[in-house]
Amino acid sequence: MAQITKVRGTADSLPEQSRKFEYIEGVFRSLAAEYGFGELRLPTFEKTPLYQRSAGETSDVVSKEMYSFADNGGEQLTLRPEGTAGAVRAVIENGLLADALPRKLFYTISCFRYNRPQAGRLREFHQFGAEVFGADSWLADAELLCLVTRALEKLGLKNDVTLRLNSIGCTTCRGEYRKALLEYFGGHKQELCETCLSRMEKNPLRILDCKSEICAALAKDAPKITDYLCDDCRAHLDGLLAVLDAQGVGYEIDPMIVRGLDYYNGPVFEFVTDKLGAQSAVGGGGRYDGLVAELGGNPTPALGFAMGIERLCMLMDANGFEFPAPRRCRLFIIPMGDAAKTVAARLAGAAAQADIPVQTELVLRSVKASMRYANKLDADYAAVIGDDEVASGCFTIKDMKGGENLTLNGADELIKALKL
Ligand code: AMP
Repeated sequence: MAQITKVRGTADSLPEQSRKFEYIEGVFRSLAAEYGFGELRLPTFEKTPLYQRSAGETSDVVSKEMYSFADNGGEQLTLRPEGTAGAVRAVIENGLLADALPRKLFYTISCFRYNRPQAGRLREFHQFGAEVFGADSWLADAELLCLVTRALEKLGLKNDVTLRLNSIGCTTCRGEYRKALLEYFGGHKQELCETCLSRMEKNPLRILDCKSEICAALAKDAPKITDYLCDDCRAHLDGLLAVLDAQGVGYEIDPMIVRGLDYYNGPVFEFVTDKLGAQSAVGGGGRYDGLVAELGGNPTPALGFAMGIERLCMLMDANGFEFPAPRRCRLFIIPMGDAAKTVAARLAGAAAQADIPVQTELVLRSVKASMRYANKLDADYAAVIGDDEVASGCFTIKDMKGGENLTLNGADELIKALKL
């Protein structure tokens, strides 16, 4: 029969890899808990209009990359391409914005985007993300950025990742800026790519994000949003920068950071690296003060970030980061004969109760083959339980690293000997 393989752009995470992901998620999780974030576990698919209304019809994600389908009942659904829209839907639907603001929430999710797979770019990938609802002060922006910066430090990526920061202003400042952009790019219409020509009409800010070489070169000399910020947006950005300076969080101002989704306003940011080739973004986020109201909730300022777990892991691997090793097998028990199986199971049970990692020979190989397997597991000790051991209740544990063998009488002695 022909083999069925995985879908293009998806990845199997085998134990060695999963261990690394778990570690990375653990670092974010414990920091998030420290900062008072609670966990959201939300559906993997949502109604398609949720993403159309939040990210915007013209965003790359919505226009080209969504996995959308009609279910058997004919409802249009989409596999989650990002976490913010679902989080906003959930806080509104569950009434989490009624009191005790700010509401701080985090999630670890898989996301689905139909893009061209390459190193660091998958069609199903994983993110750690966090959102803060109900805080309009720049202190909230600063707190989020501190959290990510501390996580990156813990992951050994302090020198590999740069925080690039911009403000894309509010609707007031963006109106003026849009005019300036239209005037500038209007003079270069012949040079713009097809997509950017349509962006001229729908959302000229997005031209700044274009990956085509010619558009990117034009964008470099385009007017800068930071020259068009209104007093409030300027004060918000300056306040944020002052806190980051005071906290020693490094950043670069980058007027080219606009983020691809419609819902952002004010400070937006990306964490980038020059060590992953074309896939330079390891995370990003910003403020989206209008989105809660846009999705039917009471107007509530909000902001968030998401980090790509695969890309963080690739960077850590490139650095030779030493992920903590899994707990090693302390004892490998080899039962020989039926009576020995019960004794072996009793010993294994007692050890498990005492939180000692023990494994039992389940394939029932010869003693020699079992010892070879114990070596592969990197077990500290192995014990063969045969008829003699069953009769006497005494058994010997062999030190697999060449140290002294120990003869023990019963489970209590075993636990005493193996407890680290
Ligand atoms: P975005 O919402 O596009 O800013 O995504 C946030 C982060 O998720 C990015 O900075 C990447 O680290 C990660 N990411 C986004 N798209 C992909 C993808 N197709 N494959 C792997 N990681 C991705």
